[in-house]
Amino acid sequence: MSSAYLAGSVALVTGATSGIGAATAAKLAERGAHVLVAGRDRARGEAVVGAVRGRGGRADFVAADLRDAESVRKLAREARELGGGRVDVLVNNAGIFPFGPTDQTPQSDVDTVYALNVKAPFYLVAELAPAMAERGYGAVINVSTMVAEYGAPGMALYGSSKAALNLLTKSWAAEYGPRGVRFNAVEPGPTRTEGTAGMGEDLTALAAQAPTGRPAAPEEIAEAITFLASEAASFVQGAVLPVDGGRVAV
Ligand code: NAP
Repeated sequence: MSSAYLAGSVALVTGATSGIGAATAAKLAERGAHVLVAGRDRARGEAVVGAVRGRGGRADFVAADLRDAESVRKLAREARELGGGRVDVLVNNAGIFPFGPTDQTPQSDVDTVYALNVKAPFYLVAELAPAMAERGYGAVINVSTMVAEYGAPGMALYGSSKAALNLLTKSWAAEYGPRGVRFNAVEPGPTRTEGTAGMGEDLTALAAQAPTGRPAAPEEIAEAITFLASEAASFVQGAVLPVDGGRVAV
């Protein structure tokens, strides 16, 4: 197999029960991947799986709470089993984004943000990348954020966790890239998802700061992730791609 691996590939998408992850699962399945839909909420996960199967695609739900390392490792094992012994594409998308002043941030938020946004991708890559490197192909896409690029009040915790993920992306490109595994990240701007529904007009105001001037649909982020997972991106390695309507550029 070349660096293509979408048709007939096995793709694990974390946080695929909602928002950007669900849209990514749908798109990867459309392109022929067997998608493993990971999340905690079985009902929403089965709905994503049902929609993929309804369009003739292949998908399975895998329940996992990614806040502790052992569950992350268990997810990797189950994904490998469901994938017939391999995972070719990993999308580290599950994430939480509590905003607020540093001095009012509960310790539990600090722990959970770093567990989910940094440690879970770290342990999944540790579990899955060595076998990709042994086979000589694989693609990992980390879902970061535009606020990993600049300081903003109330976003210290979240932005710093995704800035860590950006550097991990480049570190892993250096570590596993020479053996055929590609690591890239996308940095979405404000996107209308279940997770941002509570932000209401604040999301619109944030999006208005960028040239495109509106929030994204999850499918617009999923399109960029799918590109990075595909053969079309065979020479894209260690990149952090803004998909933010131009916010970081200006
Ligand atoms: P969302 O709608 O809130 O979905 C989050 C996903 O993460 C859900 O599928 C959820 O699944 C999963 N998740 C949450 N806690 C989990 C846990 N403890 N264990 C396992 N899975 C867990 O989020 P979204 O807006 O699509 O965002 C997806 C990613 O894009 C995040 O990493 C976010 O930081 C990033 N992002 C989003 C935006 C935006 O404006 N939406 C902008 C920039 C970056 P369960 O509830 O089933 O566990």
